[in-house]
Amino acid sequence: SIDFKFVRDNVEAVAANCTNRLSSADPQLVARLYEEYVEAQQQTDKLRAARNENSSAMKAKLEPEQRTALIERGKKIKEDLEGLDARLEALEAELQREGQRLPNMTHPDVPIGGEDVSGVLATLGQRPSFEFAVKDHLQLGEDLDLIDFETGGVVSGAKFYYLRNEAALLELALINWTMQRVVAAGFTPMTTPDLVRESVFEKCGFQPRAQNTQIYSIRDSSMCLTGTAEIPLGGVCMDRILPQAQLPLKMAAYGHCFRTEAGAAGAASKGLYRVHQFSKVEMFVVCTPEQSEALHQQLLDLEVSMFTDLGLHFKVLDMASHDLGAPAYRKFDIEAWMPGMERYGEISSASNCTDYQSRRLNIRYRPAAAEEAAGMEEGEAAAPAQKGGGKGGKGGGKSSKKVPTQFAHTLNATACAVPRMIVAILENNQQADGTVVIPEVLRPFMMGMEVIKPKH
Ligand code: AMP
Repeated sequence: SIDFKFVRDNVEAVAANCTNRLSSADPQLVARLYEEYVEAQQQTDKLRAARNENSSAMKAKLEPEQRTALIERGKKIKEDLEGLDARLEALEAELQREGQRLPNMTHPDVPIGGEDVSGVLATLGQRPSFEFAVKDHLQLGEDLDLIDFETGGVVSGAKFYYLRNEAALLELALINWTMQRVVAAGFTPMTTPDLVRESVFEKCGFQPRAQNTQIYSIRDSSMCLTGTAEIPLGGVCMDRILPQAQLPLKMAAYGHCFRTEAGAAGAASKGLYRVHQFSKVEMFVVCTPEQSEALHQQLLDLEVSMFTDLGLHFKVLDMASHDLGAPAYRKFDIEAWMPGMERYGEISSASNCTDYQSRRLNIRYRPAAAEEAAGMEEGEAAAPAQKGGGKGGKGGGKSSKKVPTQFAHTLNATACAVPRMIVAILENNQQADGTVVIPEVLRPFMMGMEVIKPKH
């Protein structure tokens, strides 16, 4: 969510942002609801004060008619308060509903428009040239006995696959090599649950039960299958106040992704390029607002160095405003050359979500100075997430201790989405004799294998 007070004070900028991001959310309505909410809250405060005053007055020595008048007044205040409480509750629900539809604000450098205006920040690596008829990964997979969609189709359904032989080892090698790289870069290695509560999906900015959702839900349960480890990683710090000294918190998880891929079809979705289940190493960062832009760049640099070491040719894109989704303030995608399709295909995505997710997940931190002053415990439970009153990023909420906390920033980035890496490696490293050369960096993770050869 974005700060409702900010929406009220910047309605025009928020409306322009919605237009730029093709969002149908209604900032004017959010601003009006926020105003009404604040007004109702002020009236409630006044009435509460009047009720307390009335109760104190009753303690004095009174004439019978004075007492009767105070009792009548007390009754009237109670009725008015009940009405106001109901109104506050309704307003808050509407404010949350409408407010949550607003997308994040947008980094000033983001190109405004559709896919065609995304900025190319860099083109790296050598695009391979082949002096023979190039095979796509499905053909290579069949010829080298690596990928089995047929059995996947029989056992599970369309877009499910089995990896065999070197391809199965390649998946594990990619994961282990990636984990080694991210750990060396200071990330905590993790594995995460594949089933997560619907509420956590929502707090991360996903809509698990919406029409055309990409998310599988479990019948008769509030659980859904994760589409990305970003969701369980987002949940790690939910409802916590972190000491500033702990930030940035850098986590990297090996997890499974399940996607319905509703509406995805055609040649561009062929084979391993778009499947219902895949493995991925995902990076997730929780940091201060001052740190997030530099960390976004660091995530991108790490992706670039890994894809370079795998020998890929790729473009780094500054994604255009129509392609940001709701939570991202800025997003860098990487697209690698896929010879089988004769085009670039997305292999990774790195997003800075600023405080959009942390407002919903209620991830706060206590600035170092405040921490010293308060001398409080680490990682204690936080006050509730942004309520209708929207405390403007200054935290506070309903906490009885008036310590200044702030919403953290969150970022997420793909370290390795396995199937598309296998597509890129097989297609780019194929040889005239039909074999495939294994990238050098992966060989130690594949028992020293150098080349994938036909089996008979
Ligand atoms: P996303 O979480 O949607 O940003 O996806 C992260 C990465 O996962 C993408 O850059 C792709 O490399 C990969 N990916 C996404 N969807 C699929 C899919 N259905 N099948 C295979 N890989 C995918």
